[in-house]
Amino acid sequence: MTPLIAGNWKMNTTRASAKELAQAILRGLPSTLDGVDVALYPPYPCIAPVAEAVSGSDIRVGAQNFYPESGGAFTGEISPAMLLDLGATEVLIGHSERRHVLHESDEFILQKLQFALAEDFLATLCVGETLEEREAGQTEEVISRQLRSALSGIDSKHAADVTVAYEPVWAIGTGLTATPEQAGTAHDFIRALLVELWGESGKSIRILYGGSVKPQNAAELMAVPEIGGVLVGGASLDSASFCAIVRAAGA
Ligand code: PEP
Repeated sequence: MTPLIAGNWKMNTTRASAKELAQAILRGLPSTLDGVDVALYPPYPCIAPVAEAVSGSDIRVGAQNFYPESGGAFTGEISPAMLLDLGATEVLIGHSERRHVLHESDEFILQKLQFALAEDFLATLCVGETLEEREAGQTEEVISRQLRSALSGIDSKHAADVTVAYEPVWAIGTGLTATPEQAGTAHDFIRALLVELWGESGKSIRILYGGSVKPQNAAELMAVPEIGGVLVGGASLDSASFCAIVRAAGA
């Protein structure tokens, strides 16, 4: 399975700095990406400049969020069709900051996943437990609830368009990283669940790890059999670090 290295820029960069960052990432990577997929998720205003900067390259561009409607009275929101117009062809769904800071529910996340796939977007569904949930021994219960809720409403024919990202909330932006053993246990659990839900198609879904991935820990994490790439926040804002992580995946 080709690993995917994805950069989530969160609420950072301006149009000019985003373009510079995308250009620096392009310069830091081989012109043909062989054996690794790369995707960037800039904030909305920066999608068009980034898509323009990487056009003609193998780098994919996506959005961090969207609203699951085609248009209408949804003040402040953005539709997949608008994102496509900016140059984005994939989306993150259920990122922990949207679940926990912006209070998105499992039901809303299912609605978003259904809408994104119906609009022919690739979708990366993020799941993961908080520190309290891990300490209470609820890690598998939480992952299972989040995954079952989102995927049970989706036909397995969409499997090729879905990526799952395991992102333990306690490891996101904290400098704490799951050990390869902790990540491996969670990824094995997710794989078993994907196969239970989607049968044979569940075997081919990429499962990313996310949570303080850096050039220093990327290789050992990606050596774990069920880790099919990484979703990178902080380190994706530095072109040298992001490119080093892509190289750790074998580019
Ligand atoms: C993320 O935003 O998905 C993430 C994993 O962030 P960080 O790498 O900064 O922990």
